[in-house]
Amino acid sequence: MKIQIHSDEEIRRDSDKLTRFVSMYCDAHHRNRERKPFSFQYEKIPVVVRDGPSLCKDCTRLLRHAIVMRVYCHLDPKPKCRKCPEHCYRPKYRDEMEVVMRYAGPRSLFGR
Ligand SMILES: [Zn+2]
Repeated sequence: MKIQIHSDEEIRRDSDKLTRFVSMYCDAHHRNRERKPFSFQYEKIPVVVRDGPSLCKDCTRLLRHAIVMRVYCHLDPKPKCRKCPEHCYRPKYRDEMEVVMRYAGPRSLFGR
């Protein structure tokens, strides 16, 4: 599999959206958990998040996975993840993200 990095702008936009979605979900469902500001920084990954929204441990893991998979998506143009034939997410995260999307997707159409 050839790995190709999409333009930074696109990745940044998608990472931003993923962050917003996971944060909406965590806000609504995990407020009673211990939560810390999300941060994301890895060598060779062109996305950096500092002082992101507060997330619980599970949502932090999910969002990190989602951003990494987004960065390494090699399909161009990138299809909607829902319609993608490849399903690059690990199964556990795929299930979690589906729940997050189902919750946050419809709610994010307004108030962007
Ligand atoms: Zn959470």
